[in-house]
Amino acid sequence: MLYYFTASNSDAQEHFRDTIQQPCNIAKYISILKSDIVDTLKYHKKDNYVHMWGATPGKTNKDRWAKLELGDKILAYSKGVFHYYGTIFAKTQNKKLAELVWGKNKKGETWEYIYFIKDLKEVNIPVEKFNAFFGYNKNFIPQGFSNIERNRFEVLYKKYGSIDKIIDVLSNEFLISEDEIEEDNYQLDIHSTSLSRVKVDVEPKPEKRPKPKHEKGKKVWPRDLKKAQQALKRAEFKCEVDSSHKTFISDKSNVQYMEAHHLIPMKMQHEFEKSIDVVGNIISLCPNCHRIIHHAKPKEKKKLLVRLFNKRKEELEKYGISISLDYLLDAYGIR
Ligand SMILES: [Zn+2]
Ligand SMILES: [Zn+2]
Repeated sequence: MLYYFTASNSDAQEHFRDTIQQPCNIAKYISILKSDIVDTLKYHKKDNYVHMWGATPGKTNKDRWAKLELGDKILAYSKGVFHYYGTIFAKTQNKKLAELVWGKNKKGETWEYIYFIKDLKEVNIPVEKFNAFFGYNKNFIPQGFSNIERNRFEVLYKKYGSIDKIIDVLSNEFLISEDEIEEDNYQLDIHSTSLSRVKVDVEPKPEKRPKPKHEKGKKVWPRDLKKAQQALKRAEFKCEVDSSHKTFISDKSNVQYMEAHHLIPMKMQHEFEKSIDVVGNIISLCPNCHRIIHHAKPKEKKKLLVRLFNKRKEELEKYGISISLDYLLDAYGIR
């Protein structure tokens, strides 16, 4: 399982510096450790210096700690970014050790549910990326000590085969897409010029995937406005869920206002050799249907996605994009 802990308040920040950024000099405390822990530390050559973390007593913390298994992985988070990734190789409940290493909090508690971490390495995973990758809400802020949501984790584990690989993909291949960041501007830009004479390329064929670009300090998959404009035009500026859905005539584009939505979300581009920013992957939706796809309950979302999937499945093949319904639902965090 993949766990994470967060260092947010000033106590935790200090601990973060003392026993994560730098290892703790555990040799000083050997006499108060249980003998099996000493053996394990020695076995891993961590009986001098070791990275460690602890949780305060409390039912949730205790339960999670009890479930920790040796070999589980952990991400360390502080101030909007996951900074470290490592492997848990031992755990111990030891109030005395916790107090000597980290002291006590205002309530007089110690961080006594301790675990030891090896192979700690630096990563740099902004929380926005973490959220998009693991299917959390855009505004989710990790708190305390927890594990990745189990369903999502299992899907990723099946796909990539190991947690190291998952973290590698998340760190190096996965990019947050523009639709996570600049959705409103994207729709506005699409309608910023007259669309009545947009030409639609008729022949669907595989297109080379574009290179990621830098935007506001973030690497993102670019989206080509023209593709979106063509997709809307091809749908005759009607909602592809139900063509009778009425909106209004957009002031600048002079056509019925529709929004462009990438059926396979752009954030999945790293898993495709061919571009998914293609007319065949862009759906014209009325604002209401568009909001349903992004914000409704899974059951509601699923209804629309199944319809749109069936509508586009074959066409997508012509673009060199082959997906199953399960794959698509998974990309939306729906099981
Ligand atoms: Zn969308
Ligand atoms: Zn609609």
